[in-house]
Amino acid sequence: MNNNNIRKIVIVGGGTAGWMAAAALSRVLKNRFCDIELVESESIGTVGVGEATIPQIQVFNHMLGLDEDEFLRKTCGTFKLGIQFVDWGRKGDSYIHAFGEVGKDMDGIPFYHYWLKDHLRGGSRDIGEYTLTALAALQGRFMRSVNAGNSPLSNITYAFHFDAGLYARFLREYAQQRGVIRTEGVVVKAALEPDRGFIESIRLEDGRVIEGDLFIDCSGFRALLIGEALGVGYEDWRHWLPCDRAWAVPCEGDDNPAPYTRSTARAAGWQWRIPLQHRIGNGHVFSSQFMEEDEAREILLRNLDGAPLADPKLLRFTTGKRDRFWHKNCVALGLASGFMEPLESTSIHLVQSAVARLLSFFPDRHFDPVDIDEYNRQTHFEMDRIRDFLILHYRATERDDSDFWDYCRTMKIPDSLAQKIEQFRANGRIVRASGELFNELSWMEVMLGQGILPRGYHPLVDAMPEDRFAGRMHEIKSVIERSVAAMPSHRDFIAAHCRM
Ligand code: FAD
Repeated sequence: MNNNNIRKIVIVGGGTAGWMAAAALSRVLKNRFCDIELVESESIGTVGVGEATIPQIQVFNHMLGLDEDEFLRKTCGTFKLGIQFVDWGRKGDSYIHAFGEVGKDMDGIPFYHYWLKDHLRGGSRDIGEYTLTALAALQGRFMRSVNAGNSPLSNITYAFHFDAGLYARFLREYAQQRGVIRTEGVVVKAALEPDRGFIESIRLEDGRVIEGDLFIDCSGFRALLIGEALGVGYEDWRHWLPCDRAWAVPCEGDDNPAPYTRSTARAAGWQWRIPLQHRIGNGHVFSSQFMEEDEAREILLRNLDGAPLADPKLLRFTTGKRDRFWHKNCVALGLASGFMEPLESTSIHLVQSAVARLLSFFPDRHFDPVDIDEYNRQTHFEMDRIRDFLILHYRATERDDSDFWDYCRTMKIPDSLAQKIEQFRANGRIVRASGELFNELSWMEVMLGQGILPRGYHPLVDAMPEDRFAGRMHEIKSVIERSVAAMPSHRDFIAAHCRM
């Protein structure tokens, strides 16, 4: 038994980040290892957005041991097969960044190189025709994988849309059942140890003092502990990701929610549409440097699929990241650690991966700097690579119809991204460092979707005889089409399994 074990974890903030951390820690540490107390304030509230996810969330749910249908029922959730990007590369264009497999790899070469060969000589125009999840999304179909041998139906990759408030409540029940103490109150100050500068305790408005060994800052954009108390700085990325505001509003949906997120480019940003079972979540993310708030609000309200269900809410943010995510005895998660706008639904995932990393480097009360440095190094790496992926959407555009798009189209980008684009342009290869979140297929789909067309394809594709090539391409396409036709509608699948 290590006498220096952490005895008490204090989590400040009960948004998605706070309750995800509380749920995961209560599951893994069990109530026996140490106490966990979460402080949140109903009077301050949460950001209340954050409703689209990526497939990795299934790992988190699995780790918690959640029943997926129950989770969807309780969060009014729907399934998500990808994101449709409308008007991004050019006005009138649209493509899907779909999850999961594209076509069928052959002879060890990714399928998309075969598609490139076909495309470059005037064949197929859209790689989405070979992607089960893209086709199913557009046809409003969904099912989970079944055991069907080689069929693409054996491997269907998906994520979820859900109501952020209901998700936090769901996780809160889960964590409280496992011993997490919830304290209602407004944190006004953190007391630091005089010698090491560690956080010793936090004080609430009503005078209560809560002590702890490890503090987790989930206080949102306020960053009460990591920023205000410990003075850790913030790297501003607005020169690459210039959007810094969002209007969010729910609207009425119908009983046939689309199984994908839609992102439509607007004159100074973009608009999201996230269909849930009981409503549609919408938001207009924009740059205040290029558009007034009132105009952005009007654009959002003019482009809803149904009647608004509330007044639009304005959120202000600065894209970027903390200089350090773990400093002394404080780890920042969620919005307190940085924010990159919801273009690829990565924020909730970043909470999940940070919690997993915290568990890998779980400290004792010595707080070994070697572990803290490695935690920070890995988190910087993860965020920087996601940042590049998001910048790609803005930079790879032909749009010149507004000052915003002129800026994005011509802005200087990080060398790491410039190199990836050049490599792809040359021969269709995607070169990734291990540990990057987005895989080769995601990069390929977005590059092609945004209009970056390679000059060539993998030379070994030519090893397949010409007479076989056309036959294989046709066969793969028709297997995918037949598989999609066999899938039920998203609406029917939800009705059969997880209606709210
Ligand atoms: P918050 O939700 O802000 O929670 C902060 C908590 O701290 C609250 O409980 C608050 O009461 C508490 N608090 C603050 N100050 C005090 C205090 N003094 N005393 C006590 N308690 C305090 N992510 C995705 O993955 N997918 C998306 O589609 C997506 N869309 C987004 C759209 C927008 C416009 C924005 C801004 C974000 C989006 N995100 C999305 C990000 C996602 O919303 C957040 O990552 C997630 O909600 C986590 O937020 P949080 O818990 O860090 O902060």
